[in-house]
Amino acid sequence: MKLLTISFGCQMSFSDGAEMARPLLARGFRAAQGLDDADALILNTCTVRQHAEDRALSQLGRLKPWKEARPERLLIVAGCAAERLGDWLTERFPYVDLVVGAKSIEQYPEVLERALSERFDWARENAGAWASPEPASAGAGAFVTVMRGCNYSCSYCIVPAVRGRELYRPLEVVLGEVRARAAEGAREVTLLGQTVNSWREGGRDFADLLRAVDAAGAVERVRFTSPHPFFLTERVMAAMAQCRGVAPHMHLPAQSGSDRLLKLMRRNYTAEGFLEKAARLRALIPDLALTSDFIVGFPGETEEDFRATLALAAAADLDSAYCFAFSPREGTEAAAFGDTVPEEVKQARLRVLLDAIEANMVRKLDAMLGKKVRVLLETDTDGRTQYHFRARLDAPGVPGTFVDAVVTGRTDTALKARAL
Ligand code: SF4
Repeated sequence: MKLLTISFGCQMSFSDGAEMARPLLARGFRAAQGLDDADALILNTCTVRQHAEDRALSQLGRLKPWKEARPERLLIVAGCAAERLGDWLTERFPYVDLVVGAKSIEQYPEVLERALSERFDWARENAGAWASPEPASAGAGAFVTVMRGCNYSCSYCIVPAVRGRELYRPLEVVLGEVRARAAEGAREVTLLGQTVNSWREGGRDFADLLRAVDAAGAVERVRFTSPHPFFLTERVMAAMAQCRGVAPHMHLPAQSGSDRLLKLMRRNYTAEGFLEKAARLRALIPDLALTSDFIVGFPGETEEDFRATLALAAAADLDSAYCFAFSPREGTEAAAFGDTVPEEVKQARLRVLLDAIEANMVRKLDAMLGKKVRVLLETDTDGRTQYHFRARLDAPGVPGTFVDAVVTGRTDTALKARAL
């Protein structure tokens, strides 16, 4: 039996897709090459941006002939859009077998077991599967989910509605999964959660989790995403600075540099507070790479607000940033604010911000010249440094291994490096 997983949208969606595939792989499913040879398909959806949801629904529409060709095939739709759209999905796409909303992921193995036992002859299929075992490979880098949901209520965000309140994975479970991914070949893990650094268990906080994952030594490099600036505490910063394996890279979403908009967004920090934390982190980790997220054209955004965003991006001296034009998400508070900034103004501001971010990125790339980096190879020549930037080596190496290299140049977005 063969399984295909298609995920749309954010990193959490991709991580959930991999997690949902695991019980099927454990039951003997092997990876399908594509739709044609797939007996089961997990379509993992994301609803954070309208575009990702639209793409998932359009893919679902195209799956009708795939399912009709072999009705015994199993079609699972999961994730945030599944949670948001619920019964509408099964009415609109009656050939879907299972809809597993993001809040129900914990019940998923049980639901799946029922669906599978109705369809497949396990004794026969398992015998075939284990005759030619194909170990699941995590690749050089793997995601490990440490928390789900969000207790915040950012006015533009649908996540709290579709993912629910925060749930934290116990530390021992996280460590077990890090070890499992390492056993599959991962050399780097990214701890994942909507507000990953709000993780806690009893008296332990995210700083303790970072230290424990680092001390376990199962993987050489540890990253995490996405932290919320509010929970970037002195303890977390100290853990980052003191743990050898924690990458000197922080992706810290700012969203805006205007305090007025940050308040309307319900972000729970000010521009000054954000910059103070960035400066404190840089004092502890001098070679820190800092990246961020911005929303341009939030309802009511004035030229002055936008200039404040440009000023924050400049002051934070960012290596890179994801920048988006605001689009209202049905069901969020900001959708009721009205989409007041004209599209052409949004796009013009977005271009200005992107140009500023790119100019700084080029400056940062140039500043890396002559520096030593440690590249985790994802192909024989390309991989990820400990910072934000990727690097291409001058000579092929072995994918999945670390290579020390010195930076010799750059492309528009990445480094060129000579292996040492
Ligand atoms: S912190 Fe805000 S943006 Fe992030 S998931 Fe929670 S509500 Fe959404």
